[in-house]
Amino acid sequence: LASKSDSKSQTLVNLSEQVVVGGKELVIIGGPCSVESLEQMETVTQKLSVSSVQALRGGVYKPRTSPYAFQGMGKAGLEILSEMRSQYNIPVVTEVMTVSQIELVANHADMLQVGSRNMHNFDLLKALGKVKKPILLKRGLAATIEEFVMAAEYILSHGNPNVVLCERGIRSFDNYTRNVLDLGAIAALKQITHLPAIVDPSHAVGKRELIAPLAKAAIACGADGLIIECHPEPEKSVSDARQALSLEAMAELVNSLKPVAASV
Ligand code: PEP
Ligand code: MN
Repeated sequence: LASKSDSKSQTLVNLSEQVVVGGKELVIIGGPCSVESLEQMETVTQKLSVSSVQALRGGVYKPRTSPYAFQGMGKAGLEILSEMRSQYNIPVVTEVMTVSQIELVANHADMLQVGSRNMHNFDLLKALGKVKKPILLKRGLAATIEEFVMAAEYILSHGNPNVVLCERGIRSFDNYTRNVLDLGAIAALKQITHLPAIVDPSHAVGKRELIAPLAKAAIACGADGLIIECHPEPEKSVSDARQALSLEAMAELVNSLKPVAASV
């Protein structure tokens, strides 16, 4: 179902009436790693909504390495996202970690994210096949392209055609960068599937000063969009602080991407 064919060459995934992933326009999703407070999200959304960021991200159920680390605001965080969505008329994307969270998350978000650590959670993928909202499927930490596409196939075959793939870097031997961004995967995915494919340079590289060049390269490789982490006070971010851009740097980056997007 995910394969490109003469009759199906490009799927368009609507996050809202105005925001479409897979079309001519590059879609940029921005926001913090975690939703931390109403004030934080207001500052972020205000700033992003006047730059060309078309959707808001923010995790409320966080898959943290340590069980002692901040696990996310849960339902209170979803309510903050809902508030931003109606106040600023911007679609929101947030991660769902378990089947039991799906209904609540789907009631608050425009797009449900499957995190890397859950790409192989087939029960979750099947359940998301029954959902009416679009799904952002992130590539597993060490998943092959074939496994990644088959994970999307689980969602498609269970009834949900609105899947966006996200390359977010894969594990390798070098830990200078957090992961290794596989741009070859983007080029390949654009050839073999009709699903939109976006890139997350933030989790790929893990260092804020290296995000801009990867974002540009992703566009050149055919990415339909980008998802980038930013925070009002990057060094104070409760998760992934090292890769968070300031809101000013985010606005600047988004501007610098316009000529790149226009040239592909
Ligand atoms: C995230 O987007 O916040 C996240 C946890 O990403 P990943 O699943 O790619 O690690
Ligand atoms: Mn993060």
